[in-house]
Amino acid sequence: MSEQVPAQDSAAPDSTGPDSTAPDSTGTGVRIEHLSKTFSVGRRRVEALADTTLFTDKGSFLSLLGPSGCGKSTILRILAGLEEPTSGTALVDGKTPRELRRDHQLGIAFQDSALLPWRSVESNIRLPFQVSGEKPDDALVAELIELVGLQGFEKAKPGQLSGGMRQRVSIARALVVKPSVLLLDEPFGALDDMTRQRLNLELLRIWTEKPATTLMVTHGISEAIFLSDKVAVMSPRPGRVKEVIDVDLPRPRTPEMMRTPEFHALHDRASELLFGAGGAAVEDGS
Ligand code: ADP
Ligand code: MG
Repeated sequence: MSEQVPAQDSAAPDSTGPDSTAPDSTGTGVRIEHLSKTFSVGRRRVEALADTTLFTDKGSFLSLLGPSGCGKSTILRILAGLEEPTSGTALVDGKTPRELRRDHQLGIAFQDSALLPWRSVESNIRLPFQVSGEKPDDALVAELIELVGLQGFEKAKPGQLSGGMRQRVSIARALVVKPSVLLLDEPFGALDDMTRQRLNLELLRIWTEKPATTLMVTHGISEAIFLSDKVAVMSPRPGRVKEVIDVDLPRPRTPEMMRTPEFHALHDRASELLFGAGGAAVEDGS
């Protein structure tokens, strides 16, 4: 069900199994190898990531779980081409982050929806076309508005929407480039639990209709398991992948599955990795 991910090649005698640390033989999907990142803050150096290795298959959904400050956002920012790694490589489908950006293959939605307040829903979703200089695909914009359930709000401004609705706009905007890679950094992290659960269901539906290789950072164990093919649990800073849990629950997923023994076993494993044995009591609001 789950496999060890070597934190460091040289220090991984206990890595088991036919392994999820091995890349897909076709060379597609996410290939993060020996990725390290040290930030310099004045004279201080902050080692955010240390030798992180992680592979996922093309079109799969992976969640990153880990304590605050362990480098989850740094991984996404490196994949998005917003940070350069100190060492190591990050490739998706054989392309560097720079190439992915150039080819408009990245869809990004972060916790703060970062919408332009003076623009309507429609016009925020159309923004990536303006950035790339392409002709807006109005049919796709309309389709995405419907897909994220915002019909009737096309002309509304972000200030007139709820937090959940703003995140839907942000996800539609991420999808408008028809990304092969979707990077989601706690997209629903600022929302109340009910809204978050509803949006997770929506996200699942959207991802099924518009499949993309997805990496999502979350602090919710249940939502990570519910949505993902794999859950990578990271150690505290400097972050490393402690273990990748394979979520072998069938698809399509339904909320009822969250009450099955299989789901509970996966939840316990993730809790144990995050908080140590007995840590299941420290639930995290998911
Ligand atoms: P996470 O998303 O897991 O909470 P981050 O990837 O945001 O963690 O950050 C990892 C560590 O790197 C933290 O200690 C954070 O303070 C530090 N860090 C992140 N970005 C920068 C930056 N631009 N400059 C300096 N330190 C940073
Ligand atoms: Mg973060």
